[in-house]
Amino acid sequence: MVDHADVIVIGSGALGSATAFYLATRGARNVILVEKHDIASQTSPRAAGMVSCVRSTDLMTQLVRRAVERIQHFTEETGQPLDWVHSGSLKVARRSQDIAVIERDLDRGRRLGLDVESVSPQEAHRLNPFLEPDGVVAVMRVGDDMYFNPAQVAAGFARAATTRGATLLAHTTVTRILIERGAVTGVDTDKGPIRAPVVVDAAGAWTRQVAEASGIRIPLVPTMQQLFITQPLPGARADLPMVRIMDAAVYMRPCDDGFLWGVYEEDPRFFDMSALGERFEIKDMALDSAVLWRYANDVNRQLPILLTTPVREHRGGIPTMTADGHHIVGPAPAARGFFFASGCNVAGLSISPALGEALAAWVLDGAPPMDLTPMSPARFASTSWSENELRQQARWQYRHFYGAA
Ligand SMILES: Cc1cc2nc3c(=O)[nH]c(=O)nc-3n(C[C@H](O)[C@H](O)[C@H](O)COP(=O)(O)OP(=O)(O)OC[C@H]3O[C@@H](n4cnc5c(N)ncnc54)[C@H](O)[C@@H]3O)c2cc1C
Repeated sequence: MVDHADVIVIGSGALGSATAFYLATRGARNVILVEKHDIASQTSPRAAGMVSCVRSTDLMTQLVRRAVERIQHFTEETGQPLDWVHSGSLKVARRSQDIAVIERDLDRGRRLGLDVESVSPQEAHRLNPFLEPDGVVAVMRVGDDMYFNPAQVAAGFARAATTRGATLLAHTTVTRILIERGAVTGVDTDKGPIRAPVVVDAAGAWTRQVAEASGIRIPLVPTMQQLFITQPLPGARADLPMVRIMDAAVYMRPCDDGFLWGVYEEDPRFFDMSALGERFEIKDMALDSAVLWRYANDVNRQLPILLTTPVREHRGGIPTMTADGHHIVGPAPAARGFFFASGCNVAGLSISPALGEALAAWVLDGAPPMDLTPMSPARFASTSWSENELRQQARWQYRHFYGAA
């Protein structure tokens, strides 16, 4: 067992593996990626793999654009496979109050040089014949949007990190962050301590548990998200634009000659990871198909195939929500050398190449390559939420993922 490192990254999901890869690529010599389960096996491979370029802030839009470049050059850069499809997307409003949101998105998209346009409900139906125009009042087409195979990203980054010299320690659990006189000195694991001056907490749903074991509080809420993949159906071409229905917060994209679809429901299930026990893995989580069927009914006029096409896969994971809907990336004020890469807000996979790259630069250069203040853990220093308030805010952020009014 190795006993020292320059940087320890906890968690080999998309955020941890991307950070480890860019650290190693930037020349950090002794990077250790510690993973308590199989490599890249928890929430990341269960995602939808959709990339949405028009985001609610300029910063997120710029980061996602950077991530898109990285995804398109993933194989070139990492030597690992990644299947992706540049399908574009259709963001659909069914209520008059959401038209203004679409107009704001169009303005931001145009200002930032994205391929966006307003299309009529009939044109949207022509672009994706599985979207019916009934009840649709406005549609934004985003040409830049894409999707990819979610199972390949974290695993690819983790493998590529080792080819650049990083060490992977699977089936090793970090039990505590070691802190002396306000600075990180390493971690304790179930296989012994590892000394290091820098530790990155990218433990996904367990981020909070890992930090809190050493008295560092971080306000994020592990939140269930699940999806269905349908059986193949005639005409479900891989290049059909993805569909997002704003007020219902339902998404759908092509997948293996059928469709993959899911929802950001009104009342998501939250988790206290400590209560689930040491051995819990995401695959053990009980899924709830009733949630998905409820929203299939809600969007039946626009996406009737969701109710009529048999399901061949039901899966879910536990991303983390924050109170303000921004990720949590950067140094923790509580301990020098301790960084977070978490608070993914159900959008951590698609943005992981850009965040991993930025965080690696932050660790090595002492500053991020762009202003990441809105994501900094320091923003919580002067705020204290009760668990109830935090969950209420997180619920609102989750349900309003597509910015519906
Ligand atoms: C159904 C669904 C659909 C989604 N769709 C999208 C989408 O379309 N686009 C998008 O961008 N995002 C999407 N997401 C969100 C995306 O999956 C997450 O943002 C992303 O996977 C988060 O990655 P992570 O690295 O934080 O977490 P994880 O992948 O869970 O990785 C964290 C790792 O840390 C390890 N770990 C935890 N504790 C310890 C410890 N003490 N010691 C060592 N290791 C530890 C865990 O075992 C785990 O492997 C979706 C999620 C779900 C569930």
